[in-house]
Amino acid sequence: MKYSMNWDLDSLFPGGINSAKLATKLTQIKTAIATLGDLLDRWDAASDAPDYQQFIKLITHLQKIEAGIGQAGLFMTAIGSADVNNPEVAPMVAKLDGLENEIETVSGKLKKVLVQVPDAHFNAILAVPELKPLAFNLKEMRDAGKELLDDKTEALISRLNLDGRSAWSAHYDSLVATVTMPFHDADGNPTTLSAGQADNNLLGNADPQYRADLLPVWEQAWTAKEQLFADTLNHLAGFRLTEYAAHGTTDFLKKPLKDNRMRAETLTTIWQVVDDNKQFLLDYLDRKAALLGKKHAGWQDVEAPLNLPGAQHHHFTYDEAAAFIIKHYGEFSPKMAALAQHAFEHNWIEAEDRAGKAPGGWMESAPETNESRIFMTFTGSPNDVSTLAHELGHAFHSSVMNDLPYFRQGYAMNVAETASTFGELIVADANVKAAANDAEKIALINAKMDNPLAMFLNIRARFLFESRFYQLRQQKLVTPAELNELMLNAQKEAFGHDLSTYSPHLWASKLHFYIADPSFYNFPYVFGYLFSLGIYAKAQQEGNFEDQYIALLRDTANMSTEELAQKHLGVDLTKPDFWLAGVQLIKRDVAEFMRLTDSLVK
Ligand SMILES: [Zn+2]
Repeated sequence: MKYSMNWDLDSLFPGGINSAKLATKLTQIKTAIATLGDLLDRWDAASDAPDYQQFIKLITHLQKIEAGIGQAGLFMTAIGSADVNNPEVAPMVAKLDGLENEIETVSGKLKKVLVQVPDAHFNAILAVPELKPLAFNLKEMRDAGKELLDDKTEALISRLNLDGRSAWSAHYDSLVATVTMPFHDADGNPTTLSAGQADNNLLGNADPQYRADLLPVWEQAWTAKEQLFADTLNHLAGFRLTEYAAHGTTDFLKKPLKDNRMRAETLTTIWQVVDDNKQFLLDYLDRKAALLGKKHAGWQDVEAPLNLPGAQHHHFTYDEAAAFIIKHYGEFSPKMAALAQHAFEHNWIEAEDRAGKAPGGWMESAPETNESRIFMTFTGSPNDVSTLAHELGHAFHSSVMNDLPYFRQGYAMNVAETASTFGELIVADANVKAAANDAEKIALINAKMDNPLAMFLNIRARFLFESRFYQLRQQKLVTPAELNELMLNAQKEAFGHDLSTYSPHLWASKLHFYIADPSFYNFPYVFGYLFSLGIYAKAQQEGNFEDQYIALLRDTANMSTEELAQKHLGVDLTKPDFWLAGVQLIKRDVAEFMRLTDSLVK
């Protein structure tokens, strides 16, 4: 084998979670935070003028500390993901969380100090050559400072939060761990499924009958504990709304939008485009139902695999997958191909299929060494190759920002999924093209449809639910019956009343509603996906897109999302045109699917 399926973490910190170098790093960070606090306390804009050397020092220190926390955080996450049973990871993560809390306090203070700096000085600061590249980020910090309450109150809120928003979020994990359901395996033998196992089977089991039998059992398991989940969700949201109210707003979308540096009009336009263009996806689901021998698809069929007779899946060795990704990346961008090759050659990727690993996949960057690490489990399926291409897309995004100041690398969640989706699209399309026969092609297009189905229908339902829930929560505690009704109605609306079954307890089973920060962990995905599709459409039309694409990625933490699109793509995100170009690509896939399956249904 040419490439190793195990990553190298020793080059980050040698010796595992007890690495002496890691311990030293944490001590250094702690000292640096104290030094920074002193610097900030003593800083005065007027006496630092006209070259603002002290301020430059301050900002340099802050970025260095945050990069150090990022480096240590990646390392800990990596060890924990590769060995979920390692008991030594959690105490180290708690230690790092403590440091993160400390630096957030200092950075909060800095934001408020910036508010006090008179405009003339602030503008002079932005004009200093060393600080000019950070102008957008500094302005953003100053604006955030304007929203903050006095130091004492902010400190109190952040301490209360440890037993409030964060605590309810952690409590959710404890609750989910108690959810089990009695069921049977594929051979009919009785077994008990954990929530995670049941979720995988409900959505991914290849047998339609198995999935249909599991759905009521699944709903029953969440029903049994619905009051506990409702309490958790109500209090988490209640804490958040009280925090917002203390900062003078009842608009629960204000912070999520600000975090994503986007305007409400853009979000409205995206949902309008989604609503206006979902019929072809519903037609697709009806066709899928017909192929499964049903009139309408059920909730449990939407993301299910489609294995028609004769669908012999191509099996990739890891080396073949690497070669496939490098080759097809190269057709779009030699630099993307070179980065992928570099990642394989330098053991940035943990891909081995073995017990004890966390589920899912992720990419995190190591800012101090200008590297990335990718985590996933590779079993050789075409889907795994797409996942790998997705994570390598993230790594490419990080790599083109390596030389920028750390603040300029802090892109938001909505644009974070742009390069990843782009990488995934290239390889998913190449997979479809390489299919050996029609049955395999149908299975691959079906797998590719998971993304648009999730974005246009499932996540749309989650957004509708969450908005309506927060509205209601502003008035009262919301009962489990009301939560079920809100969710059921949101799903029916998003799926155009087209499904034969729904999952009213999704509000309890979906982790995303219980994340301490951010809330509305849904629309940034839809943005990222559609934004990436729009860019992919442009790349296909214009060719030779590499430089323009990299320039766009490099600016992702340097301006608002609307400005980014205007500057690099010449489009207005508050208008539907750009988004519609991306929708056309999905329509093309559905048309191909319809053509291939026409003769298979009566
Ligand atoms: Zn991703």
